[in-house]
Amino acid sequence: MKLHVDREACLATGLCTAFAPEVLDLDEQGELVILDRTPPPHLLDDVRQAVRGCPVRALRITED
Ligand code: SF4
Repeated sequence: MKLHVDREACLATGLCTAFAPEVLDLDEQGELVILDRTPPPHLLDDVRQAVRGCPVRALRITED
């Protein structure tokens, strides 16, 4: 599983970071940072919630 962000769509709201703080964060410039593109199994539910919680659907999971 790999996590991707569409940078053009992302509004840097930070909502997703609340669901998966071990994987997603905002940097000092307010840009979204993916801390781990291939999160471990115990974080997958959090990541899926973050994907679902993004208001502009900027996050995407692929199974590669
Ligand atoms: S919730 Fe969506 S728009 Fe907001 S920071 Fe995360 S990816 Fe970007």
